[in-house]
Amino acid sequence: MHEMGIAEQLVQISLDAIPKSMPTPRVEILNLKIGKLASVVEHSLTFCFEIITKDTPLENVKLVIESMPVKIHCKTCHKEWEVDTPMFKCLNCEDGEVEIISGRQIEISSMELAEE
Ligand SMILES: [Zn+2]
Repeated sequence: MHEMGIAEQLVQISLDAIPKSMPTPRVEILNLKIGKLASVVEHSLTFCFEIITKDTPLENVKLVIESMPVKIHCKTCHKEWEVDTPMFKCLNCEDGEVEIISGRQIEISSMELAEE
């Protein structure tokens, strides 16, 4: 289950982002952007979070996941478009060489701290 490693990284980044001036910080919501090709299973990620955030400021955090589309760029005709599954052929010029430029990202777009 690779979600555990991802959860650990995201928790670490979140903890580092909490202002040191807060005496009892609590993170309520974590907004995530996850590419469709990152193959992250949402409920597995939530489950991992529940385990590793116990007794941390992220305990019971709500994960809001925005699924990011896969973006393809054709190196030949320079067209770009969004797809749901990876493609290896250009829809425009047909034999153009395509590359996936987005869709694998796993990032925190923002987090919301609870009022003290
Ligand atoms: Zn093309």
